[in-house]
Amino acid sequence: MNVIFLGPQGAGKGTQASELQRLTGLAHVASGDVLRAAIRDETELGMQAKKYYDAGELVPDEITVGMLLEAIHKVGADRDVLLDGFPRTVAQAQALDEALGRLGERIDLVVELELPIEVAKERLSGRLLCRAHGHVYNERTQPPKTRGVCDIDGSELYQRADDYPEAIEKRLRIWGRENGQLVEYYDSRGLLCRVNADRAPGEITADLVALLQGGSVVA
Ligand code: AMP
Repeated sequence: MNVIFLGPQGAGKGTQASELQRLTGLAHVASGDVLRAAIRDETELGMQAKKYYDAGELVPDEITVGMLLEAIHKVGADRDVLLDGFPRTVAQAQALDEALGRLGERIDLVVELELPIEVAKERLSGRLLCRAHGHVYNERTQPPKTRGVCDIDGSELYQRADDYPEAIEKRLRIWGRENGQLVEYYDSRGLLCRVNADRAPGEITADLVALLQGGSVVA
């Protein structure tokens, strides 16, 4: 089953996706991680993406689509994917459908993680990530046991370059602009389910596992 996560930044897409990868074997492909790796490795596309990324703007489709389709391709035909952060626009969704169609594959489920914007802003402004695996913490609501150190792997915690107030505002504004059409695109194809993301991570995971197992969710 190929799955897409939609929802604002801060809804917990990354956290839930790594948990589902562990529990179900789906391959988690996060567009932000793919872009950050390309920027870090200073690839040609990474260098082109950097200025948009740093400004909290969407990286143009000419750069993003090819990079993400390649990342999905690398997962291999024997494993299904869980996409997080891609597609972000209807044009990207169409490009994805076409590419999967050529491989005889399709998207089976789209989950929108719903979260009030004010909660998203608060979560993003205190967000800390670990260098080694991207485990997520929050200075106020979910602090690590030792300041600046990941509880799970002991690596250093850092704040993302685009998690500062102006960029957060901009990213959420852009998300609000694109999300409605994207939701409509998948809803009209009968693929969309909604999950309340303003709850404890474990409760959300339980609902997501039920959804993947073909159950329904009342959240
Ligand atoms: P994220 O980690 O999902 O919050 O993404 C971080 C940044 O990467 C975004 O603010 C955009 O600059 C860029 N980005 C991630 N995914 C996409 C996408 N599907 N299309 C365009 N830009 C993206």
